[in-house]
Amino acid sequence: MFDVVIVGAGPGGSAAAHYLARRGLDVLLLDKADFPRDKTCGDGLSPRALSVLDDMGMLSDVVRAGGRINGVDIVAPKGHSVSVPVPVQDGLPDYSLIVPRLILDNAIRERAVASGAQFQSPVRVTGVEAEGNGVVVRGEFRGRSVSFWGRIAIIATGASVKLLLRMGLLKQAPRMMLAARAYFEDMTGLSDYIQVRFDGVPLPGYGWVFPLSGSSANVGAGFFRTGLAARWAPDTPREAFDAFVQTPSLRGMLARARRAGPVKGYPLRVDFATAPTVGERVLLVGEAAGLVNPLTGEGIDYALESGRMAAEHLITGFASGDLSRQSLEAYDRGLRRRYQSLFVFCNRIRDMYMNPVLLNRVVSAAARRTDLKMLLTNIVLGNRDAPQGVSLRTVLKVIFTR
Ligand SMILES: Cc1cc2nc3c(=O)[nH]c(=O)nc-3n(C[C@H](O)[C@H](O)[C@H](O)COP(=O)(O)OP(=O)(O)OC[C@H]3O[C@@H](n4cnc5c(N)ncnc54)[C@H](O)[C@@H]3O)c2cc1C
Repeated sequence: MFDVVIVGAGPGGSAAAHYLARRGLDVLLLDKADFPRDKTCGDGLSPRALSVLDDMGMLSDVVRAGGRINGVDIVAPKGHSVSVPVPVQDGLPDYSLIVPRLILDNAIRERAVASGAQFQSPVRVTGVEAEGNGVVVRGEFRGRSVSFWGRIAIIATGASVKLLLRMGLLKQAPRMMLAARAYFEDMTGLSDYIQVRFDGVPLPGYGWVFPLSGSSANVGAGFFRTGLAARWAPDTPREAFDAFVQTPSLRGMLARARRAGPVKGYPLRVDFATAPTVGERVLLVGEAAGLVNPLTGEGIDYALESGRMAAEHLITGFASGDLSRQSLEAYDRGLRRRYQSLFVFCNRIRDMYMNPVLLNRVVSAAARRTDLKMLLTNIVLGNRDAPQGVSLRTVLKVIFTR
């Protein structure tokens, strides 16, 4: 009998495992994949993500493994752009990093193991059920059925919803964002700024160039099918990627480049605003709770933060002996206090304002107005206080009165 059984050893599950094990709890971390394993991603780590990694005592190792980013170039559908440095914010690093997930996720998992968590793979979990004063976690290990018992379980299975559907936590698969990426080497035109591009991509959506070094980058494109625009959206993320890398600016940057590895696509769950985060003897963290920014697609920071929050919540629960459903609901309330207004704000901007006319005007206006520039940066970096920066009314007023 473990105190906590965690399903999924991505950033969310491994962060939770680290914080729980560090406080002396008996933690079992399971994943269907052997590590190191790749995860299709843009590999961008926001200052918020770096802040949690720092708290976990592993920021200096991660810095060594990645490309340091000092700002963002935001490119409008028409091709004009605005450049913004990563802002200096209280307590957060004033830079971002691009770190391949093959390296990052294994490092976080190793941190959890060093803190005392047990890791087992490849275990594909097929069911999690409350039973008496705990949970039973059932799965398959090399063709054999296996079961593990814990007082409580954390589900951190990312965008894969099979387990949540089987557990009845989700009634149906939510609508997801779709994105694809590839690594390129020998590129030109890279700097220490990431590029977030709205030219040559379906909207709402965006293309990215995230430099790993002076000559290599993670390049990708993602989109969300919503409203009228859904009719013209591509069928697959691969189509969006292919169109993006054919735009004149990307063709220039990739003229002498070599693709390192395949183009990989994967969905993103962005439905936190309506998603369950708690079940009977179960907490959900990271993307399993729909915690990916609906505008930017960044989810590593939310996975790390929610993993830490779930651990803090359970540490209190174990100390007081109260792991009741009522007590677990406080975790959901904590997540809502922290993220709900940001997700509602981002959903609204994505569905109502992410069209070529407005984006062209916003980028032009942001080049003139510091407050808009800050708003765009805060949105791109997924900062929690983005909705408080400037009201949507002000944004509309500014872009329609030149
Ligand atoms: C193309 C693309 C680009 C992205 N770019 C960025 C970016 O630049 N920056 C950013 O912050 N975010 C980005 N994201 C989002 C980010 O990748 C995810 O939000 C993040 O990985 C979520 O972390 P997690 O720990 O919740 O889940 P994951 O990292 O997905 O980990 C889930 C783990 O659970 C395991 N698992 C799943 N089901 C089972 C099961 N039944 N049994 C056992 N194990 C299981 C999986 O093997 C996996 O290891 C991107 C996503 C995509 C698809």
